[in-house]
Amino acid sequence: MPGGVSSPVRSFASVGGEPFFVRSGRGARVRDADGRSYIDYVMSYGPHLFGHVPDFLRRALSKAARGGTSFGAPTELEALLAERVAKAVASIEMVRFVNSGTEATLSAIRLARGATGRKRIVKVEGGYHGHADSFLVSAGSGVATLGIAGSPGVPDEIAALTTVVPYNDASALEEAFRRFPGEIAAFIVEPLAANMGVVRPRPGYLAAARDITRRDGALLIFDEVISGFRLAPGGAQELYGVSPDLTTLGKILGGGLPVGAYGGPRELMEKMAPVGPVYQAGTLSGNPLAMSAGLAMLREIARRPPYAELERKGALLEALLCERIEEQGLSARVALVREGSLLTLFFGEGPMTDFASVKRSDTGRYAGFFHAMRERGIFLPPAQFEAWFVSTAHGDADLRRTARAAAESLAEAFAARLGPSDAPGV
Ligand code: PMP
Repeated sequence: MPGGVSSPVRSFASVGGEPFFVRSGRGARVRDADGRSYIDYVMSYGPHLFGHVPDFLRRALSKAARGGTSFGAPTELEALLAERVAKAVASIEMVRFVNSGTEATLSAIRLARGATGRKRIVKVEGGYHGHADSFLVSAGSGVATLGIAGSPGVPDEIAALTTVVPYNDASALEEAFRRFPGEIAAFIVEPLAANMGVVRPRPGYLAAARDITRRDGALLIFDEVISGFRLAPGGAQELYGVSPDLTTLGKILGGGLPVGAYGGPRELMEKMAPVGPVYQAGTLSGNPLAMSAGLAMLREIARRPPYAELERKGALLEALLCERIEEQGLSARVALVREGSLLTLFFGEGPMTDFASVKRSDTGRYAGFFHAMRERGIFLPPAQFEAWFVSTAHGDADLRRTARAAAESLAEAFAARLGPSDAPGV
């Protein structure tokens, strides 16, 4: 396995050191192969809204496994989950299930291109939409933290069809549409940016994106692979009150199993095969294990909406961390950005509004902080430009322990002299 991993960020390449191997997870904790336990804020990068393997999920999966794992024929479970998704997300009338966030976004832009007859897509700098060719242009997440500009293997001709604009800048978006009138199939954006670290949308930005795309006849795609079901049952579009044409989902929708989905109005979705001519398919798409996990998650969300609790816990962690940051006189050197249960501690001066501002963060210091936290039993994302995920399983005592560890770790990170190998700047 290249780098010993199935996905690059897991290798600790941007913070250095050896990754631990996880043996198991339960609630807010993971245990490694050496028996050490960590309070987990990586949380598989998003699916575990209720922590690792809550009982309702384990029961749903055991039941589903007894009935078979995959058939290549439709099942009732898919229909039940589709109904729930359409009910939860206001802009979705019809949905197609796939196996990952990447599949969801690449299918959504194929649909956008098929529906509009246009080729160009617009994305934001530091936005991450999975690893399909069209998105590996000024991308966030692992692409940003590993300092990869694009990727060899993406033909220039394909990359040239992706126009990149700064996040939170409606005039730059307008300018892109002025430059390529009638050529842009879609603007794809994470309504809450969460792959350059967490960066919130400026008031009015998403509404402006809605207007600009509509005026030009382009589609607005909200990539809610992280924000879907996390910020509200209807996702970021519900929280911010802006409705896209297409939505991509993943993560929580699969409760930790490989699931993605894209959806929108019937008129658009019926352009997909077999009703329409735009092709997209999948051997394991909608498999009963994944669908059961998704159903169990959405039923739990409907039964016990976790959003007030997640907001309270997110706010508590933010308050505790900010207290420690102030105590140590670090307010000008560390900035915390949070929305609900997603947050990032940037080792740079705020305000964080776009990729240019977050990129000034001192990634070498973040690496020091990461390792100091790890030594204290706290597992943070092994990269500056990722979100921390709080779940309902994180108890107040966990959050307080995290803040105490952070106080010591900040002191350690800022006391350390940086060697040449961990100098800041990706
Ligand atoms: N879109 C967003 C917003 C994401 O955060 C991610 C993954 N973190 C993806 C798409 C790709 O999803 P996957 O890794 O499941 O392919």
